[in-house]
Amino acid sequence: MKLSKAYEPQSIEANIYKRWERSGFFNPDKLPGKRMKPFAISMPPPNVTGELHLGHATGMTLEDIMIRHKRMQGYKTLWLPGTDHAGISTQIMVERLIASEGVNRHALGRDKFLKRVWQWKKQYGTHITQQIRQIGASCDWSREHFTMDPKLTAAVQHAFVTMYNDGLIYRGKRIINWCPRCLSAISDLEVKHEPRKHKLYFLRYKLAGGAAPITVATTRPETMLGDTAVAVNPKDERYKSFVGKKVTVPIVEREVPVIADRGVEQEFGTGAVKVTPAHDALDYEIGLRNELPIISVIDEHAHMTKEAGIFVGKSTVEARRLILEELQEGGHIEKIEDYEHNVATCDRCHTEIEPLISLQWFVKTAPLAKKAIAAVKTGKIHIVPARFEKVYFHWMNNIRDWCISRQLWWGHQIPIWYNGDKVKASVAKPAGKGWKQDPDTLDTWFSSGLWTFATLGWPKKTKGLTLYHPTSVMETGWDILFFWVARMIMMSMYFMKEVPFKTVYLHGLVLDKDGKKMSKSKGTGIDPIPMTQKYGTDAIRLSLVLGTAAGQDVRLYEEKISSYRNFINKLWNIARFTLTQPKETGVKPKTLADAWILSRLQTVTKETTGYLESFRFSEAGALLYDFLWHELADWYIEITKVAPNAGVLRHVLLESIKLLHPFTPFVTEELWSHLTAAKGTKDMLMVTSWPETQQGFVNAKAESDFSIIREFIVAVRNARSNAKVPPHVFSDVCAWGKHQKLLQEHQAIIERLTRIKLTCGESDAKPTGVARGMAFALAVTEETGKRQESERAQLTEYIKRLEHQLANEQFVKNAPQQVVEGQRSKLKETRNRLDQLK
Ligand SMILES: [Zn+2]
Repeated sequence: MKLSKAYEPQSIEANIYKRWERSGFFNPDKLPGKRMKPFAISMPPPNVTGELHLGHATGMTLEDIMIRHKRMQGYKTLWLPGTDHAGISTQIMVERLIASEGVNRHALGRDKFLKRVWQWKKQYGTHITQQIRQIGASCDWSREHFTMDPKLTAAVQHAFVTMYNDGLIYRGKRIINWCPRCLSAISDLEVKHEPRKHKLYFLRYKLAGGAAPITVATTRPETMLGDTAVAVNPKDERYKSFVGKKVTVPIVEREVPVIADRGVEQEFGTGAVKVTPAHDALDYEIGLRNELPIISVIDEHAHMTKEAGIFVGKSTVEARRLILEELQEGGHIEKIEDYEHNVATCDRCHTEIEPLISLQWFVKTAPLAKKAIAAVKTGKIHIVPARFEKVYFHWMNNIRDWCISRQLWWGHQIPIWYNGDKVKASVAKPAGKGWKQDPDTLDTWFSSGLWTFATLGWPKKTKGLTLYHPTSVMETGWDILFFWVARMIMMSMYFMKEVPFKTVYLHGLVLDKDGKKMSKSKGTGIDPIPMTQKYGTDAIRLSLVLGTAAGQDVRLYEEKISSYRNFINKLWNIARFTLTQPKETGVKPKTLADAWILSRLQTVTKETTGYLESFRFSEAGALLYDFLWHELADWYIEITKVAPNAGVLRHVLLESIKLLHPFTPFVTEELWSHLTAAKGTKDMLMVTSWPETQQGFVNAKAESDFSIIREFIVAVRNARSNAKVPPHVFSDVCAWGKHQKLLQEHQAIIERLTRIKLTCGESDAKPTGVARGMAFALAVTEETGKRQESERAQLTEYIKRLEHQLANEQFVKNAPQQVVEGQRSKLKETRNRLDQLK
């Protein structure tokens, strides 16, 4: 069957994906052949109602490359997909939807609201899984999971109850990030730091005993009502004499101590700060270290509490205004400065975070972290790139207890039951009357922390769990190393008594052409799905993987994607040419070029496999790109037009297509079906065996000889182009020096590829060119001579003009420096060119 002139991904990709899916080979149980060794990856679950962004596309491509490679190598390969319920972001989306109908979730009530969220999930939840298909992911859809599936919900509840009974989960009052709009505790991950313009207020606090006051700097004067100390750095000489004395907090007239604490930055403001343990995470730490009382003056709606005295019920904004007025009247304000700084905001709604002391559920992380640290220290888990191990250890050594309760409705409701002052942890409602379940839900990361084993059937001891856990690789962005990867390690070490995965591969961020964060408003944002439609999925896969390494950011822009589309077209054209050749199946090298390309194929096979096994995906892809384009197409195919060997050409192309399949699965599968006429499911490329090196074809002599011929040809081509020989003209070349025998043996090919008539022998002529000890002279025909003559005349004229201009002092003095420099370098280039023609 003839191939269409150009590769049209739009008409081919969807069909190929359907063929793969129908084959059943995404499912490890249905793979052909006896497969004993498992290879498993758990797909990091994207948000169920989200869009596939470039981060996902990068991760999925890398995971698919690993999976396809291992599948072809004969492993029992499982890539388990799924989606995350994404508590807060999904809830906000539905809140916005019902707001447009004029209701809010409180008016609707919990049950009705949750019904709406499930409806929403049903309507949009397949959108992202369709997009995952579009990117070519060969994951096992028959094992797809959703974090709120009944089975996973049961696993989450079981995990909570077990940890509670083991004393690892407790309820306590701690400072947390609070979003006054979402009315929920927010994890550190959901906090985004944004630059905002505020004021810095310098307030005078009276020192007991009538001495000069101490001045503190703050951006949030309204919190002063909850101050329980003033703190300075112990090393700060300026305040040594103040430590231990008492100051009076204005307005509330409370006496508080001046303390020394290492947490205070000497450079900030005056070096003295007010301490409000209830409303600032750092102050909270200082408070704990110094046993300060905690006074909450702001509530969960960002209104002042009873502790704020006359300001009770006022919003923080209103309270700030009134408090500043009073401070001003009392002469407590020294000065006010403009101050731009990074402020913690809610990632979902951009409201400024209100740090609050709140009654929440926590996981005691210290004992879990200990085992998680050991897992990496002892090499049971490798992190690629290794430099992230240091980051991991630093974070795990400084980990705080993990706040797992959220005041949201969408999520796993905490399996804790209250009855009067009785508290019970239980999956089911305890027997008897009056039990009420805790209204809060669990942090999304609590359920995704169980992802690797809960998706394989845990807490049941399933076959899947025995076979595929620990999984082989966890591939994800380095930005969630702590939030997710570390939590999975802690949870698996605790529940499974084993690591969740053996290797963690971290990819970087996708940036724009200049290495900056992509921005939709600047027009540098790229959506992967429209790009797959415009350039084909294979092109975007290549542009996400090539030119980067583990942990490194990758730059992406449309020209890059289109250049990889050109490569796909090149591959297509190589196959089209191959299909015009006779159908020979034997692989018998006859010429030097045959021996060379077969030997190169062995090296490329070995190196590609090695790169893939050591997670060097970019190097593997780049190697195949160069081999196919710059060796097979540029050289071997050109030579086969003179000395055809259809058997060798076909073999090299088919093997290359196998090696390339993990990177560009669509075009390779399509070409495979044409080149092999394989119509049966079991003959599909995705399950064909991975190529192995054939020692018999390794031929160092052929590689070395061929490189000599190649360099000679390149030198002659350059000489012809320098001498302005028109392409259709044959020129006479005599060569002397080294390798004469080799040149004579391959005279026909050299002559065809360079359009020359070659004679070899001794000569003392002035050489036109040299390469590897070979010299040659190019004879000039009458036609070429005329062309050269006319170019010489043009160049001489141009040189005269330039010289004249540069001799003009006015021009040199008055023209912009770069214009003068430009003319000078033009003069130099033109003189060089003229020399070449003499
Ligand atoms: Zn919020």
